[in-house]
Amino acid sequence: MTKKEIQKLIRTLETYCGDKGLRYTPPRRITLEVIAASKRPIGAYDVIEEMGKVTDKPKPTTVYRAIEFLQEHGFIHKIESLSAFVACHAGHNHEGSQFIVCNDCGTVEEVHLCHLPKDLQKKVDNTGFKMAHWNTEIHGTCQQCQA
Ligand SMILES: [Zn+2]
Ligand SMILES: [Zn+2]
Repeated sequence: MTKKEIQKLIRTLETYCGDKGLRYTPPRRITLEVIAASKRPIGAYDVIEEMGKVTDKPKPTTVYRAIEFLQEHGFIHKIESLSAFVACHAGHNHEGSQFIVCNDCGTVEEVHLCHLPKDLQKKVDNTGFKMAHWNTEIHGTCQQCQA
């Protein structure tokens, strides 16, 4: 994300917390800043390291809690296969997240679909299953790495 996009995202977080009566704390803000500024999905350990550069090195539990909060409220997503996090580019809460992950350079792109594709939804419905969220990762080689 560009500096401008990050600033916008931080403002969204501030407004969101204000509206919902949630605490807008420095660890929550800085954690989101660090994840949004990272060019690649970033793991919790690296978030702690990066935060140590701009402020006193935080306690891991503080960062884990901030990550959990941001994930729960849709500001970041976890790339399960990498155990790493990316900032949400879709700008709102959505129950599903889909990513295209380049196996060579590690770039991740968020593909945004608000709803589960119909065929898949049908299969889920047929099992009587109650879906909470869904997550799809498509791995391959990005255009740049193919060149
Ligand atoms: Zn998203
Ligand atoms: Zn690539």
